[in-house]
Amino acid sequence: MPLSNNDKIAASCSLLAEKIKEVAPPGARIMEVCGTHTVAVFRHGIRSLLPEGVRLLSGPGCPVCVTPQSEIDLFIRAAGLKGVILATFGDLIRVPGTKASLGEKKAGGADVKVVLSPLDAVKLAAENPKRQVAFAGIGFETTAPATAAAIMAAQAQGLKNFSVICAHKLLPPALTALLAGGKLEIDGLLCPGHVSVIIGARAYEPIARDFKLPCVVAGFEAADILLGLYRLFRQMGEKRVEAENAYERAVSWDGNEKARRIMHSVFEPADAAWRGLGTIPASGLAIKDEFAGFDASKRLGISPEPAPDPPGCLCGQVLTARITPPRCPLYQKACTPENPVGPCMVSSEGACAAYSKYFSPV
Ligand code: SF4
Ligand code: SF4
Repeated sequence: MPLSNNDKIAASCSLLAEKIKEVAPPGARIMEVCGTHTVAVFRHGIRSLLPEGVRLLSGPGCPVCVTPQSEIDLFIRAAGLKGVILATFGDLIRVPGTKASLGEKKAGGADVKVVLSPLDAVKLAAENPKRQVAFAGIGFETTAPATAAAIMAAQAQGLKNFSVICAHKLLPPALTALLAGGKLEIDGLLCPGHVSVIIGARAYEPIARDFKLPCVVAGFEAADILLGLYRLFRQMGEKRVEAENAYERAVSWDGNEKARRIMHSVFEPADAAWRGLGTIPASGLAIKDEFAGFDASKRLGISPEPAPDPPGCLCGQVLTARITPPRCPLYQKACTPENPVGPCMVSSEGACAAYSKYFSPV
């Protein structure tokens, strides 16, 4: 009888798990940068396939989790302005700001609309010419090109009532700053598939070279993750340090040049505040002067105000793998998926939410 697809996948996973056991250095610490990897690692039971002592640590790869309180408050403030429709991706709705969340603001009468893409927000502006539509722009290189394309579309349509609250962030500069500051104690990076579609596997070459840290881009299926880990451990065993691409069916070495061109024609690098990590030089995007009319800070006259993280929340330490979520004193006590205190518990791909859903201490 021919093998089913599931049988073939299971066979390749057990083969990879065997090979990993042969080459994984004892005690190796691998950071999965991306929230999608964190969840997939749990869902597929990857940890149980690894040799004892090898550790997988969650990193700063969820845009919801790294958006600081000051920017969450800014979105909420914009939603409260007269005549403004705040357009946002759904995963921001429940993130608590200092006084409320966008969802609570909406329940109190603010016009908050969930959109599936930045272009939907442009459409909203075209349909509501008497209102200002502000789009909450979050995300890494994965989503920033779409926001840039939306700004270009709004310009092409001559819209004067569309703007972006720009909270986009760039992953490689943040990883570089965290590594340079000695904030990440790791032996290898499992690099995110989504972001890498845009920036290409080549983007990790400087990180591998400058920090002597093996970097492997991996996809999100069980076999993809195991292959990424195998190639990381194999590098370590062979004393090689390189950027490698283990997700060639989606990620090329050079990434998506057209998407990067669109992104860079609208945005320029700017210092950015990250939740729990402080301000990191050139790790964010600002709207260029020539598109100033689409910058919500100028159009609506709003800018972020300092706002501390919620008392007791250790998201910053979770995002740099200094602690695992169960070591936060609020975990599963004051902070639960139903009543989250920090964004790592809100985002479906935040580390605290993933631990809550899948992890049961033995
Ligand atoms: S939850 Fe949303 S923002 Fe966070 S990693 Fe997943 S897709 Fe990205
Ligand atoms: S458990 Fe809650 S409070 Fe603690 S780090 Fe995670 S999100 Fe923040």
